[in-house]
Amino acid sequence: MKFADIGLSDELLSAVADVGYDTPTPIQAQAIPSVLMMRDLIGIAQTGTGKTASFVLPMIDILAQGRSRARMPRSLILEPTRELAAQVAENFEKYGKNHSLSMALLIGGVSMGDQVKALEKGVDVLIATPGRLMDLFERGNIMLNACELLVIDEADRMLDMGFIPDIESICDKLPSTRQTLLFSATMPPPIKKLSDKFLTNPKHIEVARPATANKSIEQFLINVPPRKKQDLLIHFLDNGVESAIVFCNRKTQVRDLNKKLRSIGFDSGEIHGDIDQAQRIAELDKFKSGQINILVASDVAARGLDIKDVSHVFNFDAPWHPDDYVHRIGRTGRAGAKGTAYTFATKADAEAIENIEKLIGTEIKVLKGSGKSSDKKKAPAKKKAVPENKRKNETQDKPKPAKQADKKSKSDTSRKASPKTRKQKAEDNEPDDGWNGPMPEFLAYGFKD
Ligand code: AMP
Repeated sequence: MKFADIGLSDELLSAVADVGYDTPTPIQAQAIPSVLMMRDLIGIAQTGTGKTASFVLPMIDILAQGRSRARMPRSLILEPTRELAAQVAENFEKYGKNHSLSMALLIGGVSMGDQVKALEKGVDVLIATPGRLMDLFERGNIMLNACELLVIDEADRMLDMGFIPDIESICDKLPSTRQTLLFSATMPPPIKKLSDKFLTNPKHIEVARPATANKSIEQFLINVPPRKKQDLLIHFLDNGVESAIVFCNRKTQVRDLNKKLRSIGFDSGEIHGDIDQAQRIAELDKFKSGQINILVASDVAARGLDIKDVSHVFNFDAPWHPDDYVHRIGRTGRAGAKGTAYTFATKADAEAIENIEKLIGTEIKVLKGSGKSSDKKKAPAKKKAVPENKRKNETQDKPKPAKQADKKSKSDTSRKASPKTRKQKAEDNEPDDGWNGPMPEFLAYGFKD
């Protein structure tokens, strides 16, 4: 099946062709015709399956008819994180280039003034995180009674982040005749309840988890004592890693690790829920452009990131939620490319690993020898392992993997000298022990005795 066969307009087909796609992914092939027929929809699908375009494309054609009115958005897309919201907005720009639809992005960390101005002019598409939307609604800046199409994306993530009451309250404010599309990687009971309450006769579509179905990701488990994790990571990064996202469970760990990697000459950056939006976008852009090739990240900030050509994912900390494992490793091996995912597991992670293996339905291959057996299939990176004290002084002329070196020649600026870096460093010294991911269940209950 081709895009031309699923009922999209010529203008849209031309924009899709310009992006280079001609065949819809399974979720797109199944969802787009139903959405165009104005049906409610439940899509069990994860990022990496092409689910964003499965709602963005038909929405563009639906919204091409009709006009927006001041402060009354015609459609609303709810996203759990700012990054995902920004990514959906990018999709609208990319696919909507032959249409003149207006869009506003309501996300925390971006000036409220500009967002309110856009809303006052009237928008066809409003992309928002639930908290910021409720804020503006309560201030009277926005009315939802003309909003005929609602998308609730990553519903299970919304649940993890405590957004369900906000979403219920938002659903109650929209016309009951609206069309509702709900996407979720899993269907835990509260999401089922939400969909029973707010969707009408929805079409169900389920596509394979990209991580479990994705044969292009090689997964390895490495048993390692906690104090050896850093050395092990550095060993890998020194040996054939072209680009990597390194996931940690705590934001303090994200910061410390990034600081360490930079201090010994790696081009790394960090994203976690505590750095402001502008910085998060700047770090992501640097990673996407190849200016940095290692991104140390927390789950909250990294969920759903669409970054191409990530050769490796490292779970520096084994994730506590098995779903997060699937999301994390899905950052590599995208769009048919090969990827490798390493999970560092300490003795304390045994249960988490067991849960992950249950979820993905297979045992993860254990790599023996603390990583010294290394990644034999990959050519070693040109950067040789050197003693740490020497490495620091080599930052300027450190050889790069070819891809990075090419990109850097175009866009590199002196990272170490930038004020932002100094600011980050200052922030690194602030005390902060907070957990940055979803609340583990055992912490959600008080101790009774
Ligand atoms: P998503 O699941 O929406 O995060 O999309 C995952 C990746 O697949 C993104 O890089 C998309 O640009 C890409 N993609 C979306 N639709 C297609 C398609 N029909 N063919 C190939 N790649 C696609």
